[in-house]
Amino acid sequence: MSQTDDRDKPSSAKLSEAPEDGGAPAAACPCRSHWKLGVLVLVAVMAAMVLAAKYRGAPAPQAAPAAAQSLPDAAPAAQAGLPRLLELGSVSCIPCQMMAPILDQLRKEYAGKLQVDFIDVKEHQEAIDAYRVRAIPTQVFFEPSGREIFRHEGFFPKEDILATWKEFGVDLNAKEPVAFKRLQPAQADTRPPDTVCYMCDGDINPKTLVTVRTDKGDVRLCSPHCYFIMYSCLTEDKADFEKRVSVTDYATGRPVPATDAVYVEGMDAQNSRPWIRAYTDRTEATDAEKGSGSTRWRPAA
Ligand SMILES: [Zn+2]
Repeated sequence: MSQTDDRDKPSSAKLSEAPEDGGAPAAACPCRSHWKLGVLVLVAVMAAMVLAAKYRGAPAPQAAPAAAQSLPDAAPAAQAGLPRLLELGSVSCIPCQMMAPILDQLRKEYAGKLQVDFIDVKEHQEAIDAYRVRAIPTQVFFEPSGREIFRHEGFFPKEDILATWKEFGVDLNAKEPVAFKRLQPAQADTRPPDTVCYMCDGDINPKTLVTVRTDKGDVRLCSPHCYFIMYSCLTEDKADFEKRVSVTDYATGRPVPATDAVYVEGMDAQNSRPWIRAYTDRTEATDAEKGSGSTRWRPAA
């Protein structure tokens, strides 16, 4: 097409935006592409004629009538709760063509935050009247309630659109607050509650069970390891706390007071996880200690 040269340098052909105070409609599109300009002028003049008849001398209204905001054949109805940017233009107008990728970007980048619509006023001439279009392109900003809060005529850069929204309290780039969300288990836990460690959610080995008596019932832990972690997390007064705790003798599987046991710790050769075992019999403990590279110790009574 012979207009290629013109189209290739839209940025050098800096568009002066249409005046917002009702200046000559053609000023909205100082395109150098003459046949396109002709179409545009035609549309703009039509709009101007309609508007001149209807709004002569009237100040630019701030809010579109409710009926004007629903043209279901031309643009989808506003989604509940979303601010909406509506452009009224024509696919054959150069600034409108320059706006098209911007609208696409906004539509994609702010999906779920902003509704972006376009009405071709050549296809839907009723929109010229309904939205009081004086020049194309015209961008109309609606708040989520559907009330018009702002409009602009002519090419409107993306940053300016975002800045305008922000000015009206819609920060499209605001970071979503990270809400605390409890993770849902992948599947229902069918283990009997008595067999699950209160601390780590792991299976309780009956030979290493630790039970802590509390006002609200017994707390069962898989091992002295989890007990020590729990103990270190407690913020309450821990005086005599050990008296509420029973551990399991690893050799016999019987519960014994935590203060009566000695403890052997080591490392599982298979999974490299630490383990702690309780014994009441010192000989058993010494035997367990051999080869484990562990230290044996006893809590202060
Ligand atoms: Zn545990």
